[in-house]
Amino acid sequence: MIINDAELSELIKNSKAPTEKELNKILLKAKKLNGLNKDEVLSLLNVEDEKQLEQIYSTAKFIKEEIYGNRMVLFAPLYISNLCSNECLYCAFRVSNKSLVRRALPQEEIEKEVIELLKQGHKRILLVAGESYPGGGLKYIFDSIDTVYKTKWNGQNIRRVNVNIAPLTEEEFKELSKHNIGTFQLFQETYHKPTYSGLHIAGQKKNFEFRLNAMDRALKNGIHDVGIGILFGLYDYKFEVMAMLEHISHLEKTYGIGPHTISVPRIEPADGSDLSLKPPYQLSDLEFKKVLAILRIAVPYTGIILSTRENSQMRTAAIEMGVSQMSAGSKTNPGGYEEGSAGAQFSLGDHRTLEQVILDLVKHNHVPSFCTGCYRLGRVGKDFMDLAKPGLIKHHCLPNAIFTFAEYLHDFAGEELKQKGFALIEKTVNEEIKDENLKKLALKNLHDIKNGKRDIYL
Ligand code: SAM
Ligand code: SF4
Repeated sequence: MIINDAELSELIKNSKAPTEKELNKILLKAKKLNGLNKDEVLSLLNVEDEKQLEQIYSTAKFIKEEIYGNRMVLFAPLYISNLCSNECLYCAFRVSNKSLVRRALPQEEIEKEVIELLKQGHKRILLVAGESYPGGGLKYIFDSIDTVYKTKWNGQNIRRVNVNIAPLTEEEFKELSKHNIGTFQLFQETYHKPTYSGLHIAGQKKNFEFRLNAMDRALKNGIHDVGIGILFGLYDYKFEVMAMLEHISHLEKTYGIGPHTISVPRIEPADGSDLSLKPPYQLSDLEFKKVLAILRIAVPYTGIILSTRENSQMRTAAIEMGVSQMSAGSKTNPGGYEEGSAGAQFSLGDHRTLEQVILDLVKHNHVPSFCTGCYRLGRVGKDFMDLAKPGLIKHHCLPNAIFTFAEYLHDFAGEELKQKGFALIEKTVNEEIKDENLKKLALKNLHDIKNGKRDIYL
């Protein structure tokens, strides 16, 4: 696929904010839950007026509630290695950073990290690595995925492994698909080629097209769910959002499905990286919220992921803007869950534990979800989208969220959270599950979970 820099820049230059009447028309269309076209999105990106922004936020909130209800999927990143042969000027793992403590965890240490995550109550992880593997090949990654799935602690195990690693060749994707991963995540960082070239100055990652076309290779070679993203702060956010929408419509046209998730990292300070301290196109909090809300409106059925790069205030605000997945209790250095924080990729904005994040979600009337049902039942790729678009996925997601949250409360929560969490579950079952048969089934499953049954999903 090709992004036409000049054409897109010209389009943005000639665009303007909508009039009151135009905005109302766009937002009315958005509420039909079918997304927006390019011109409409660009129009929204130009909004700066506070009252108009509020209208955008409340439309995003409406869409989030219609499609996702009050659920929030939680996961933890697992950094297995910070070895890297690339030179990305914003990242602490870049090859020239000699002060970084380098580590690729051996399988026994990966097992220990997984046990630490299981002890916290996690069920979903995102495996992350730099682009250089001990032994030279991807075997290290494949073995690590297998180790994560194999590790057990006290009857608990990780049920879904997503991966965020370098782009692969067609053959390598075929191999990766045999290891039962959930989503393959890869961020383009910036869709603006000249900026990309100036920031990725050595190693494989210099190749912009190889990265841009990675999702095509993935979807053609056995990977069902892909996650895309932008590293905000590298280039003009309007260009990035518009280019990402082009990427999405290319995937939709070619494969019948868009990305499963969009990630929205903003650059955080990274060891020894001047650029990360002063990103050239720093995105303000206000612009960030606007982007989140517009993405929710533009691609209603794609999950939006927010990491612990953001601080707790922003993460709480983002719940309303349509974010549907969050990492929690994260460490960004290999070995970080068991040991200290030497060798981290960047500094975190949210240092709260998983339990503290959950307590905050519950206070905001949100049910934390550790659900892995769709992927384990094969509801992936187009099958997932076909269920999601008419809103049918809600019949699975909300009950599954409730079951996994009930498990968490029984197995891991302190008294305060237990009390508040079960009250929220009761309220949610009574008020949100309208179908009487489904409600009966949910109550039965909750009873079974109380009596020790685990891993129930619809
Ligand atoms: N090495 C692989 C790659 O670059 O695609 C995957 C792992 S890399 C650790 C995951 C992501 O971290 C990158 O795609 C980039 O967007 C993000 N990242 C790097 N430096 C960052 C920083 N200083 N602040 C926030 N995110 C950063
Ligand atoms: Fe390596 Fe990825 Fe960091 Fe670039 S972003 S230096 S490829 S780990």
